[in-house]
Amino acid sequence: MNKKTLTITLLILTISGILAACSGIDQTFDQSDQKPEGTPSSTEQPGEKELDPDEKDLTVPEGALQKKDEGDQVKLLQSALNTIGYSVHENGLFDETTTWAITDFQLQQDSLLVSGIYDEPTKKALKKTIEANETITAGAGLPQQAEPAVTDAGTEVIANPYDQIALINKEHALPADYIPEDLVIPDVPFPFAEDLPKKQMREAAAKSLEQLFNKADEAGLELYAQSGYRSYERQDAIFASNVLKHGEEEANTFSARPGESEHQSGLTMDITSPNVNFDLITEFGETEEGKWIQENAAEFGFIIRFPEGKEEITKYQYEPWHLRFVGKKAAKEIMSQGITLEEYLN
Ligand SMILES: [Zn+2]
Repeated sequence: MNKKTLTITLLILTISGILAACSGIDQTFDQSDQKPEGTPSSTEQPGEKELDPDEKDLTVPEGALQKKDEGDQVKLLQSALNTIGYSVHENGLFDETTTWAITDFQLQQDSLLVSGIYDEPTKKALKKTIEANETITAGAGLPQQAEPAVTDAGTEVIANPYDQIALINKEHALPADYIPEDLVIPDVPFPFAEDLPKKQMREAAAKSLEQLFNKADEAGLELYAQSGYRSYERQDAIFASNVLKHGEEEANTFSARPGESEHQSGLTMDITSPNVNFDLITEFGETEEGKWIQENAAEFGFIIRFPEGKEEITKYQYEPWHLRFVGKKAAKEIMSQGITLEEYLN
């Protein structure tokens, strides 16, 4: 019997005893965890509020929270997570473990988009779980890894591929078997008609891309989406072909080893315009479309993932066409400070 059950049971027994003496209403009480319904309010004892120390556990943070956030609201969230079955350190830091717990919780709720971010729908689901006095089997959605795995190339495999702010690069690979569960085709123009897998993105990213493209259209610009989701197998074939043509070292500067491409995350879209003949070339950055993207992408949760002058950090040449979805909060901080995702997270 957990603490809450014990408290409520004691409460019920106390009230039952008082009521049994005068009315026999205790017949309506069952022995479940729920407080009895239909108890006349006149029978409430003045001390009842003090008798319920779990009242505070029903509180969950009001606003959105995500990785890197810290403070009392994060602590409150960690406490709420522990109430439903997690055992995260209540340190007030939205760290990897907290991100994992949120992700795992989201994976166990059919209605939620999985992002590792504590957003409004997640808040409602968490509150509902606590109020129903339900518990979660921690790790049933996303097992918590003790030791990081590595790829054949020696790259560390990330433990949480669902994380919307996950760092995926030449040092952090996606699991080979990771396929996003919520891939959809965004309703934006493509320079080809076939329904190829590369049209897809994860749902939250796809919706935001639609909004970004609508806004660009209003500004009189012509944006096209060229290449989004790419499976591990497809990336494997592309990299092998680039190695044949250019050698491994050179191939690795513009192409990614399988697992190390953000395109597998479903959070990325390469975009282009008729002004550069629908190609993916650096000149795109000089077009009206490219300049507008630089200014406005963050407003819709996207960053230019491989900026000019940051090649030493990203290990990629400048790619003004490669958009990565990280959500508005992170995108605004990254783009306004002119930094990379690597710098933002470290
Ligand atoms: Zn790309």
